[in-house]
Amino acid sequence: MSQYDYDLIAIGAGSGGLSVVERAREYGVKCAVVEAKKIGGTCVNIGCVPKKVMWFGAHIAEALRDAPDYGFSLKQEGFDWGKLVEQRENYINNITTWYAGYLDELGVDLLQGWGRFADEHTVEVDGKTYTAETIVIAPGGQPLVPQEVENADLGITSDGFFALKEQPKKVAVVGSGYIAVELAGVFQALGTETHLLSRKDLVLRGFDDMIRETLTDAMIESGVQKEYHFRVTKLEKAEDGTLKIYADDGRVLEGFDEVVWAVGRETLTEPLALERAGLSVNGKGFIEVDDYHRTAVPNIYAIGDVTGQPQLTPVAIRAGRYLAERLYNNKPELKMDLSKVPTVIFSHPPVGTLGLAEHEARRQYGHDNVEVFTSVFTPMRYAFTQHQIKTALKLVTVGEEKTVVGIHIVGDGADEMLQGFAVAVQMGATKADLDATIAIHPTSSEELVTMRPMIFR
Ligand code: FAD
Ligand code: NDP
Repeated sequence: MSQYDYDLIAIGAGSGGLSVVERAREYGVKCAVVEAKKIGGTCVNIGCVPKKVMWFGAHIAEALRDAPDYGFSLKQEGFDWGKLVEQRENYINNITTWYAGYLDELGVDLLQGWGRFADEHTVEVDGKTYTAETIVIAPGGQPLVPQEVENADLGITSDGFFALKEQPKKVAVVGSGYIAVELAGVFQALGTETHLLSRKDLVLRGFDDMIRETLTDAMIESGVQKEYHFRVTKLEKAEDGTLKIYADDGRVLEGFDEVVWAVGRETLTEPLALERAGLSVNGKGFIEVDDYHRTAVPNIYAIGDVTGQPQLTPVAIRAGRYLAERLYNNKPELKMDLSKVPTVIFSHPPVGTLGLAEHEARRQYGHDNVEVFTSVFTPMRYAFTQHQIKTALKLVTVGEEKTVVGIHIVGDGADEMLQGFAVAVQMGATKADLDATIAIHPTSSEELVTMRPMIFR
């Protein structure tokens, strides 16, 4: 008989927390998961899933735009943002309802409320205390609002984007990372006048330059109005209710229905009272973990966005599953390889990227040990359309063997193209391995196995 109420309590029923309890239950572990808001966490409720629905909507708008070039004569009578949002929310409600039933079936207790530590083995939820041998912290994060900007709270964040019931006519999206380019792309394709305000130059700092340049150009080509080196200092509400945006260099933009902050996320650790468990966060707000997701306290683990590892759902899920395998299935050495995490940005067009950017590879392996192969072309879908959207591909290879250490794709289909190539890279593929693969024609992905010069061994 255990001295604790549970073997395992996870705090946060998002991608990470759900994964660890789900896998632990397979090994008969007595589990509870604490959730303050909605089961599914960020990804299901205010992240990946609703975002992808909006992205599909935007995709349909783009197909309608190009339809006349393919001979269709269409009379478009408008777009009902409210209907799309309603369909999306119904879909998400079905997922969360299903999850609740699934947890019940598995025999995992759902403790609804904010969880906070009483000590290293005890969590308080809504006035009650629960003890566990092992506690996993998976609270995720929330969007940042730059408090140094005057009246910053007049703007919304990605959370506010998903709460919009009506389509704004004119928006400014501030930022240049994942969320900024994804939301700007959706707004623009669905017919909102969209301004993207970047405090630097190109979008997606840190990614391969080819991706950054091609995507920035494509966004401008699609009608997004991009402001460079625009540092917002103040928001102001005009008499007509629209928003004015002031920059530090004197530029003023006006007439916005919404300003969307997409300037990063912060971890959600304050409600946890970590200090009561003997834990703290580092200077960036992350809970530090080792390769096995151990924190500084032996019975407490942390997974997902709160750890500072890539803030992606599959990374949080993998962390949760591996942790359960280590703890309850006698696989103590299992650990994640974070050097080849594939990721897709659902921009317009999408970006798929994996491994090292060219500049990172040259820095890491030495300039002359790196060889890159690129291909830029207009895909057949746009052969005769008025709107032409380029595809650009890059392979980054190292050494004599030309081992692939990076793949970068921007263009239609990048989102679905990358996963299979990620398997090859995970297995250590070389350029010659890709070249030995028979192409699939006519596709864009065939360009990745026919990049010149080809190597036949
Ligand atoms: P979360 O999923 O955030 O779950 C944490 C849960 O814990 C939340 O439900 C929260 O309410 C709860 N919680 C927090 N503190 C407490 C507490 N003290 N007590 C009780 N409950 C608590 N990733 C992708 O891979 N692909 C995408 O396309 C993608 N799109 C995204 C789009 C947007 C707009 C955003 C914001 C994120 C996106 N992400 C995407 C990232 C992805 O959502 C996160 O990486 C992932 O959800 C992290 O999982 P997690 O378990 O760490 O945290
Ligand atoms: P990101 O870290 O991707 O981007 C934030 C960007 O905002 C920075 O790169 C910075 O760009 C810019 N920025 C920061 N502060 C300011 C400021 N004060 N004014 C203007 N710009 C500023 O954060 P996101 O919020 O976009 O996304 C958070 C994370 O969520 C992502 O990193 C990703 O891991 C995950 N996510 C994943 C998605 C997916 O898988 N498709 C989709 C959405 C999110 P610069 O320095 O160039 O100015």
